Amino acid sequence: MNGRSQAGIVERLKNGTVLGAEGYVFELERRGYIKAGPYVPEVVLDFPDAVRELHREFLRAGSDVMVALTYYAHRDALVAGNVCNTWAYDPDDRQAQDAVRAMYDEQLRWAVEEGIDFVISETNDYLGEALIALEVIQGLGLPAMVTLAPTQPDQTRDGYSYVEACRILAAQGAHVVGLNCDRGPQTMLPLLARIRESVDCPVAAQPVPYRTDATALTMQTLRSGTAQRAFPIALEPFGCTRFEMAQFAVQARDLGVNYVGICCGAGPHHVRAMAEALGREVPASKYSPSMDLHPMFRADVSTKDATFLNSWTA
Ligand SMILES: [Zn+2]
Repeated sequence: MNGRSQAGIVERLKNGTVLGAEGYVFELERRGYIKAGPYVPEVVLDFPDAVRELHREFLRAGSDVMVALTYYAHRDALVAGNVCNTWAYDPDDRQAQDAVRAMYDEQLRWAVEEGIDFVISETNDYLGEALIALEVIQGLGLPAMVTLAPTQPDQTRDGYSYVEACRILAAQGAHVVGLNCDRGPQTMLPLLARIRESVDCPVAAQPVPYRTDATALTMQTLRSGTAQRAFPIALEPFGCTRFEMAQFAVQARDLGVNYVGICCGAGPHHVRAMAEALGREVPASKYSPSMDLHPMFRADVSTKDATFLNSWTA
């Protein structure tokens, strides 16, 4: 990739909030390109244009970072390599740990060849696995953003509170620490506040746009009216509106979160609303809602239409 971005992630975080859009796998599944269940993103080989299109949509909606499902290089956006939980890690098995290290090393060497700007290691269930990713990223000389998956009430699967795990990652040299996935804004914000108080480095927050609450802290625990598990392909009734995600963006920024993002379930309409809530005008703002121009919602609606409207929305 030629034309590397002018400012790296570390510098951009110093200059203000960075907005990051993710959730590629969920969205490409909804669009019919990924099989729910195994979630193997063969789409990068079979339909690269579909991947490129979604990157373009998130970019137009204001994302500062293009996260690699594959790479879509753009001069104004940072390109992040990406590694995640492997499902192969075992805190008591040295061989499994070596296998994880080898996987990260292989994945990231390819990404480095393509000229990535930094690496996001995310959805980490284990602090131990996250620390392996951090070491590999540091070995490649790239900035590391390492985020944990807050699937449990208060601690990682290897028994560290999320706050303590973030503190350890920061002490080990991660440039950005925080949380991604699993929790919606409402149940992620309280944890973020505690993490923000406990580390000096930039903090990242990428919730899922679903209405998790005190009875269901995570999207995996949401249940529909018939007590059916909604995760992962029946979550629509719990979806956050663009307005709720815009509110989250402002709340997170006001809390001191530096990298404000969104994870599984994200649509470009969420990202645009978040960008605009953070005070930006982005390419897709050209088509942002103007309800004052709607035939039935405009201020000068005729008496006849007002009567219709009353019965329409009653
Ligand atoms: Zn996610």
